[in-house]
Amino acid sequence: MRLGAGRFVAGETLDECLLVLRSLNDRGFYANTTLLGEGVRDEAETRAVVAAYEEVIARLDGMKANVALKLTHLGLELDEELAYENVRRLVDRGSFIRIDMEQSQFVDATLRIYRRLRSDGLDNVGTVLQAYLYRSEHDLADLLPLRPNLRIVKGAYLEPAEIAYPVKADVDAAYVRLVEASLAGGGYTAVATHDERMIEGALRFAEEHGIDRDRFELQMLYGVRPRLQRDLVSRGYKVLVATPYGPEWYPYLMRRLGERPANLLFFLQNLVRR
Ligand SMILES: Cc1cc2nc3c(=O)[nH]c(=O)nc-3n(C[C@H](O)[C@H](O)[C@H](O)COP(=O)(O)OP(=O)(O)OC[C@H]3O[C@@H](n4cnc5c(N)ncnc54)[C@H](O)[C@@H]3O)c2cc1C
Repeated sequence: MRLGAGRFVAGETLDECLLVLRSLNDRGFYANTTLLGEGVRDEAETRAVVAAYEEVIARLDGMKANVALKLTHLGLELDEELAYENVRRLVDRGSFIRIDMEQSQFVDATLRIYRRLRSDGLDNVGTVLQAYLYRSEHDLADLLPLRPNLRIVKGAYLEPAEIAYPVKADVDAAYVRLVEASLAGGGYTAVATHDERMIEGALRFAEEHGIDRDRFELQMLYGVRPRLQRDLVSRGYKVLVATPYGPEWYPYLMRRLGERPANLLFFLQNLVRR
């Protein structure tokens, strides 16, 4: 953590994380948190993750903060029914839960579980669509009748060209299409990107189409473009800072380093300084 993960991760314990979340709230940000971990392959371990999240949810009470989680942390690789039962226990508690989107092999099951929760009458749940996947525009069109709460991201995993745009400009163009279709579609949209052009474009689109500020929010990751985050809050927008914690921070950190060469440099400088 001291080598540099602390820039992107709010500590290894829930107590450390809550200090960060409180400070974000004090500065006008909303926040979410995630107990880092994925790919759990043991049923008992998934139950322990659920118990940990129950504590997180209880301790977030009264704060401007919610939970985002990964279904593979709740056992999706083991059994879809188990993942459904586990996430349902958490959604049943009534606070808003966002189901992150992981590698492409989990997209169908994730959307099935999301739909199942909604058809169970649970509305305090949202999920994520990734612009790099060719399928996401269809997925959005299929979901819109549910007035879904969707976070739109570019996509963080390495996916083959058969299913995902290999060229960044195409991902960016798909991102704009998805965000605009989601904003216009009547649900709630979380525009999750650090790309200032995309953010300003979304804000302009919302303004021009009379989409109220209570129908969307901006989301960024803890430690990424903090000045831009502050500027947007000072302009009166709802900005949520995604603020993960936990001892299993390594895969998360690797994704953040992979997104930007400068991050890798920052990390290596910390290594050298020690
Ligand atoms: C709140 C949130 C939740 C997310 N949830 C998911 C999810 O569920 N599933 C999923 O696949 N992906 C998720 N992602 C990751 C996302 O898919 C992208 O990988 C990530 O946001 C980088 O893309 P970008 O939109 O910021 O645009 P990019 O075009 O990659 O970057 C635009 C600019 O932002 C800055 N920037 C971007 N990333 C970084 C970074 N790591 N460090 C420093 N500067 C950076 C740079 O200045 C860059 O020029 C999430 C992202 C956010 C913000």
